[in-house]
Amino acid sequence: MAFSSKKRITVIGGGFAGLASACSLASRGFEVDLLEKNATTGGRGRSFQSDGFTFDMGPSWYWMPGVFEEFFARFGKSVSDYYELTRLDPSYRVYFEDGSQLDIPADYTALRNEFEKLESGSGPKLDEFLSEAKVKYDVSMKDFVWKPSLSITEFMHPTLLCESFRLDLFSSFSKHARKYFQHPKILQLLEFPVLFLGAKPSGTPAMYSMMNYADIKLGTWYPKGGMLKIAEAMTKLAVELGVRIHTDADVSKILIDGKKATGVLYNNSHLVSDAVVAAADYQHVEQKLMDAPFRNYNENYWKNRTMSPSSLIFYIGVNRKLPGLLHHNLFFDEDFGEHANDIYDKKLARETFVLSLLYIENRRHSSACRDGKHFYPHTCRHRINQH
Ligand SMILES: Cc1cc2nc3c(=O)[nH]c(=O)nc-3n(C[C@H](O)[C@H](O)[C@H](O)COP(=O)(O)OP(=O)(O)OC[C@H]3O[C@@H](n4cnc5c(N)ncnc54)[C@H](O)[C@@H]3O)c2cc1C
Repeated sequence: MAFSSKKRITVIGGGFAGLASACSLASRGFEVDLLEKNATTGGRGRSFQSDGFTFDMGPSWYWMPGVFEEFFARFGKSVSDYYELTRLDPSYRVYFEDGSQLDIPADYTALRNEFEKLESGSGPKLDEFLSEAKVKYDVSMKDFVWKPSLSITEFMHPTLLCESFRLDLFSSFSKHARKYFQHPKILQLLEFPVLFLGAKPSGTPAMYSMMNYADIKLGTWYPKGGMLKIAEAMTKLAVELGVRIHTDADVSKILIDGKKATGVLYNNSHLVSDAVVAAADYQHVEQKLMDAPFRNYNENYWKNRTMSPSSLIFYIGVNRKLPGLLHHNLFFDEDFGEHANDIYDKKLARETFVLSLLYIENRRHSSACRDGKHFYPHTCRHRINQH
């Protein structure tokens, strides 16, 4: 039997993080085994099929296309080698409490005009708001994302330190937005991306106006064939790079000798390696896969953390086009603040907090979908509960 002289690394989790880690390690010459407990890779971004419908289970908003492009470029590839991307126009549709609706145009000037219709003078303010948001976005994407996050000092960036007051960095997102705009509809439009972070706009730093830059300037995109194309592409790349992917492989323990991880136990088998990369939820890895002496935090620490809220999602396949619905629909039919207080402060499960209606192509109608225009909605009413 021939043994490889390469160092072996086990990656736990086949979501985007695990797949990205596995690709990076394999391209640097490591022998990589990726263990995924589900039957398919993709993690929260995986899909399932039922009765001829394919459902993307998690993400539906493809934002920041440059991040994906940069990832594939690291391996001499491009997104277009794996899937076709289209910028959606309009980006999404919003229904307001008063029954009115607004389609958010991809074109910035057109959106600016919509803002002006709602609040006179808001056009130039939007320019200013977004130019600040761009500074935050650029610093975050060019610098922060590459930091190991071992210390807060890593995030003391010269541009941000010098401009902290102008960029309103010590303020909350909701205060920051209200310095520019008053109209409740504009505020809702700007605050909804922050809800993606699983937090209240009033408790989220103004730094996150970078999300508005991503939304408005960089746009909402759609991979032809559905969001599952991303996981498929990353899985394909991993295999091309030589990663061995094991699905239905549930890791029950990380084996540690002294201060060194020496492998994992999965499905009652032992996999030896020189290092382990855990790309599953941190709390799960620490509390369930590692013995107490090796944990950074105890149970009490985790009990006192504010976890992102969970949501109950209904995947509903509909075999016809539903009038009035676009690819992405947001229903701002109830007060954000009230909902956020119920979820985060009072820890109440809200009966219905409708965030979006997702939709997906129906495979049986795939020929109709070829031009990327006709979609068959599946509805998803997000009911956000306490974690
Ligand atoms: C409903 C929903 C909607 C979302 N919408 C968007 C969106 O529109 N746009 C966007 O950008 N993001 C969105 N997100 C967030 C995005 O999906 C996640 O940030 C991303 O998928 C996280 O990837 P990850 O690899 O870090 O984690 P995960 O996807 O959770 O991957 C972790 C993997 O580890 C596996 N695993 C866990 N424990 C073990 C174990 N013991 N042994 C083996 N395997 C294990 C899991 O099965 C999983 O496959 C959404 C998320 C959800 C849930």
